[in-house]
Amino acid sequence: MENLVIHGTYFTSKNMNEVESHEDHLICIDRCGTITRTLSPTNDEYSQILNDARQTERLIELKTNQYLLPGFIDLHVHAPQWPQAGLALDLPLADWLNHYTFPLEAKFADSHYARYVYQDFVHQLLSHGTTTAMMFGTIHNDANVELARQSIMQGLRAFVGQVVMDNPEQTPEYYRNQSSTTALHATEQFIKKIFALAKKTSSTVVPVITPRFVPSRTDEALTGLSQLARQYDLPVQSHLSESDWEHGYAIKRFGIHDTAVMDHFHLLTKKSVMAHGTQLTEDDLTLLRQRETTIAHCPISNIYFGNGVLPVRKLLAHGNSIGLGSDISGGYLPSLYHNIRQAIKSSQMLTDGVDSSLPATVRGVKDSRITMANAFYLATVGGAKALQLKTGKIAPGFQADFQIVNDHQTLMKLSSADIFQRLMYQTEQQDIQSVYVAGKKVYERE
Ligand SMILES: [Zn+2]
Repeated sequence: MENLVIHGTYFTSKNMNEVESHEDHLICIDRCGTITRTLSPTNDEYSQILNDARQTERLIELKTNQYLLPGFIDLHVHAPQWPQAGLALDLPLADWLNHYTFPLEAKFADSHYARYVYQDFVHQLLSHGTTTAMMFGTIHNDANVELARQSIMQGLRAFVGQVVMDNPEQTPEYYRNQSSTTALHATEQFIKKIFALAKKTSSTVVPVITPRFVPSRTDEALTGLSQLARQYDLPVQSHLSESDWEHGYAIKRFGIHDTAVMDHFHLLTKKSVMAHGTQLTEDDLTLLRQRETTIAHCPISNIYFGNGVLPVRKLLAHGNSIGLGSDISGGYLPSLYHNIRQAIKSSQMLTDGVDSSLPATVRGVKDSRITMANAFYLATVGGAKALQLKTGKIAPGFQADFQIVNDHQTLMKLSSADIFQRLMYQTEQQDIQSVYVAGKKVYERE
């Protein structure tokens, strides 16, 4: 017998170009939080299952203005930067790091402060419809474990990284690993602590190898981190060709691109997620495809710091693995809805170009527009594939990670396809009624 049945209309990706809508369906979920089957009203068992679930109080009945969507997967977030989200986005990347970000992250040496911030941040992610997040922590072991604990307590699927930044030339004295040896030791301790936590819970909590970015680390650290990733079979996260400055740094120091540096140290694997990539070349993209490494597209952050637009449509067409990230606090809100919208807007600007003094024929990059279905795919299936999780879809065999959203507009009768578009464009935090992970409620709007 089903443990939980949901009755209502849902939207889910069919593939990267199409979204399916299913009206008035039943979604059946077992005790382990897996979707076992979905039934249309024409199914013979439909009435029986609906009635049984209602009588035994295992039914979630959506109201006529409510819709069910998969939970979103945020592939790139800096959890400790939550207190400064929305600040100083008019500064260049290097200034933003040195004047705002590093001083704030240094405060996480205090694990009480970490608990205070992370408790709120995990709640914020869930309340924005995000059910899985791949997160950077700080260089502090205890604070990162606190982030993992808060995620478990509140029910977020969490991939948590202990940041490594040990290059004295590019990191401040007050916030860096004292040496590559201490950084590697701390990372291994962190891995063991997260494994111990994971053993005691049914929640997803995974340690992530996290070299910050090419400028901030030494060769010894990269070699050691790559060994740890292999030894413990762990995901890797970092930044890749994020901006002119960062992309140029790798060329200056190593004479090659970020992608080649990371590959040299064996850090590009099918479990790797590299953020941004606005400056990646064809050769870089080919190598990433060969390694099956995912790019976390962070369209809001890229507007401020990226010095370019990631050509998402080209990446999808060529078969690069790609998902979506909010990049708190390079992005200002932990909302993948906002990033879905920005991904589409940025792609339209890439197509048209922005300098109207140039002839229209040379102003933009032709055929770069992406659709809502493309962007929704990135936020759901793209992210799930990157993390090798069976979630991101509402379909049998997938984890029951979803959000119930309220649609407030009733002025005009719309098709399901139109309702989906409007939900994607207009849903804000206050419109998200409840959020579930593995069939368990993890957030309810008050
Ligand atoms: Zn980032």
